[in-house]
Amino acid sequence: MIKVTAVQPESIAQELGLREGTELLAVNGRELEDFLDWEFLTAEERFLLHVRQPGGEEIEFDIERPLAEPIGLSLEPARIRRCANRCDFCFVDGLPDGLRDVLYIRDDDYRLSFRYGNFATLTNLKPKDVERIIEYRLSPLYVSVHATDPTVRRYLLRNPTAPEIIPQLRSFAEHGIEFHTQVVMSPGVNDGEVLQQTLRDLYDFGPAIVGCSVVPVGLTEFSKHHLVREPTRDECRAAVSLVEARAAIALSERGTHWAFGADELYVRADLPLPPAEIYDGFDQVENGVGAVRWLQQRIASSAEAISGWEGRRIGVVTGTAMAGLMPMVLEPLARVTGASFELLPVVNSLFGASVTTAGLLPGAAVQAALQGRRDLDLALLPGESVNDDGLFVDGMSAELLDAATPVEIRFSKDFADALAMGAAA
Ligand code: SF4
Repeated sequence: MIKVTAVQPESIAQELGLREGTELLAVNGRELEDFLDWEFLTAEERFLLHVRQPGGEEIEFDIERPLAEPIGLSLEPARIRRCANRCDFCFVDGLPDGLRDVLYIRDDDYRLSFRYGNFATLTNLKPKDVERIIEYRLSPLYVSVHATDPTVRRYLLRNPTAPEIIPQLRSFAEHGIEFHTQVVMSPGVNDGEVLQQTLRDLYDFGPAIVGCSVVPVGLTEFSKHHLVREPTRDECRAAVSLVEARAAIALSERGTHWAFGADELYVRADLPLPPAEIYDGFDQVENGVGAVRWLQQRIASSAEAISGWEGRRIGVVTGTAMAGLMPMVLEPLARVTGASFELLPVVNSLFGASVTTAGLLPGAAVQAALQGRRDLDLALLPGESVNDDGLFVDGMSAELLDAATPVEIRFSKDFADALAMGAAA
């Protein structure tokens, strides 16, 4: 059963009399469990929909509509699938006490992997999940492999029952499922020869594995430092060498680069970022792989849409991770817009200075950085620093921040999106 949370005006759903609180029970006699069932089972022009109205009345509708016309429903979010692992580097262990409950959920959900590109380990799949992945052909999936050696992988995941990843991926690949994979590199555990072997195994798997990224493990002040540490510059350099060696093989044999280092890996290795061409389709940009090159491309391709900013002063709030790389993005942006940009790297006051990603910036730290900045015409904030409800990780709302700062704020994913909305008043 899935509950309806909203009905769009003048939609098919409204015409049928569905409303907030209506329970969607079945389509063509098949019980509905979540948004996946809903999307896949209603992907026909004609279907039978069985619902229970908020008053308890059950109705079956015979629906026929052009495929292009949406039904017009919003659904309650799916209950997140909990993780079966206990990785030493888990972000949840690195959280301080007192944050919103939802932040402490270890999610590992193949549905969100398919829908949003979240990485999943596939260690918590039940037989029914396997059937659904195959039946609905949930492809591509984003999979945290970490190591193909089952012993090393089980150690990293702290899960002695984790299935062997290569046979598991093989059983899906035989049904046409493809994968983007990642290795979170924990020094002394899955770097060096283990990483080399992992990249080789995944590459030799064949084209169903579209690519593999290597991301250095990131910790907070609260992480289990007695069990896991961040890689050194030389360890990151060694990983970059392995990635680039594998990419060179892939390029000559398959015409794609296939293996990628996260931007963070290059930063920690103190090496220049590779050019945009190596990221193929930027498939893992949300994972911080090629993010700077992707931003540069977005700015170049949106130049015409972001006019009207000549002479304006724009502050760019970011986590300290990107501070060193951001000039590579802001320089072309200044050229295109005629505005001047000031980088405002914000130290994470909640998790500690070692947490450098923009997505975890607390609202209070951003507020402090913008305090008294009446000299700015606009402050751009990373879009990933707030959730869908507009809340920062510390629970501050974007609205509250807006009211508390003397400068207009806009959230942005790629600068062009916020600047194309027109110059600040
Ligand atoms: S897979 Fe590991 S890092 Fe991810 S949520 Fe589970 S325990 Fe945490």
